[in-house]
Amino acid sequence: MRVVFVGPPGAGKGTQAENIVRDYGLYHLSTGDALRAAVKAQTPIGIKADEYMKAGALVPDEVVIGVVVDALEGEQAKSGCLLDGFPRTIPQAEALDKILAEKNAPLDVVLELSVPDEELFKRLASRGRADDNPEVIKQRLVAYHGQTEPLVGYYTKSGILRKIDGLGTVEEIYDRIKTVLDEYK
Ligand code: ADP
Repeated sequence: MRVVFVGPPGAGKGTQAENIVRDYGLYHLSTGDALRAAVKAQTPIGIKADEYMKAGALVPDEVVIGVVVDALEGEQAKSGCLLDGFPRTIPQAEALDKILAEKNAPLDVVLELSVPDEELFKRLASRGRADDNPEVIKQRLVAYHGQTEPLVGYYTKSGILRKIDGLGTVEEIYDRIKTVLDEYK
């Protein structure tokens, strides 16, 4: 099963992604985690990504697409994957479709975890990651609405979008996710 997880910053994708990969045996690719690791290790990609991430902006498509191509080449991804935080733009989604078409392994489902902005702001402000200060949070939400939300239309058109209500307890939300994913097992 190949799953994309879309949702604004603070929606709880990371927490739910851990549950999903554990229970469904999927390879977890978080581009945010991969980029943070690259920044920490000061690789060429990390050095490039750092300034964008600090500003709450998206890292350029070609940089992120390179990260994903490399990760999906690995053996681990063959039995299924959860893409978390990728794609985040229409060109990224088109690149992903192309990569997966070449492997004859199209996406099964796109989960959109939906949470209103006021709630996101509250959650992010209490989290305390380096890019979680109010100015940067605002920028990440702007980037989400401007660049990532159009993916909802893109995947609705391809007929694979499923919307998940992201308000409630972690368990309640995970139950909603399982109900949907069990249809694709
Ligand atoms: P969040 O969803 O909470 O913003 P992530 O860990 O997914 O956190 O991403 C953190 C940052 O990493 C983003 O603000 C962005 O700068 C960068 N990033 C992650 N994934 C992508 C992507 N697919 N395209 C561009 N930038 C990305």
